Amino acid sequence: MPRHVSQVIQTVQTLEGGGFPVRRPFPTPQCSQVDPFLLLDHMGPKDWLPGEAIGAPDHPHRGFETVTYLLSGEMEHKDSQGNYGKLTPGDVQWMTAGAGVVHSEMPTVEFRERGGVTNGFQIWVNLPAKLKLTPPRYQDTPAAQIPEVDLDGEGSRVRIIAGTVGDTTAVIDTHTPITFLHVTLQPGAAFTHAVPPSQNAMAYVISGSGQFGENAQTAAAGQLAVFANDAETVTASALPDAPLDLLVLAGEPLNEPVVRYGPFVMNTQEEILQAFQDYQSGKMGVIS
Ligand code: MN
Repeated sequence: MPRHVSQVIQTVQTLEGGGFPVRRPFPTPQCSQVDPFLLLDHMGPKDWLPGEAIGAPDHPHRGFETVTYLLSGEMEHKDSQGNYGKLTPGDVQWMTAGAGVVHSEMPTVEFRERGGVTNGFQIWVNLPAKLKLTPPRYQDTPAAQIPEVDLDGEGSRVRIIAGTVGDTTAVIDTHTPITFLHVTLQPGAAFTHAVPPSQNAMAYVISGSGQFGENAQTAAAGQLAVFANDAETVTASALPDAPLDLLVLAGEPLNEPVVRYGPFVMNTQEEILQAFQDYQSGKMGVIS
């Protein structure tokens, strides 16, 4: 028997970074986190006129990981560790901020000049207390390296950004058990995935609408279905007459105190103050 869906969360529209639009199921007043996930932002889809695209200029992070997955558009990332990465559709950047980095997340110069559609995701994955000050790590993963598995039914597939499907495992390494899948289902197709009951699991609908879990809960584009921890599989089904595009996320909850302030997520207020001090005194570096 699959898990039930316990909650369907509606996204809140807001502005992020330098002012680009995101759809955010959490953190919102309805849902502060789905432990160990701290934030899920659907960036766009937004059609920019030439010269208008906006990104997130230099800012710090400490205590967690930022994961960027692009479906459309072009972004470039720079950080105080000297890393540079360009993201094109299908690419993933998994950045462990850990002890602290300063980074920028901007549209490429060419994309800004040309204009076009930005569509993608940023997800924040929390780190356990013992790893919050781990050295920063950068896993820049081009689309071609992300394993893809065909599902039953022509044209249905799953891209494995983190975790394992069948005997195929992602190339990206995670600090705690994390599953991050991009599932595309043709009309009438279904996806079933095993998740240990101890882990929290959810499905975000990118486009289309479908039915989720034992109770066949309907969720549509821009909604997040959160599964109860009452069984060992999660399920998603496309309706008979339309395709369904979704993300499936799962992870072992940390069950630790979360104290967040802007770009820092720690366990105590003192650690947040320390993060501000370390950032202001330049200990997280600058982008050269
Ligand atoms: Mn950032």
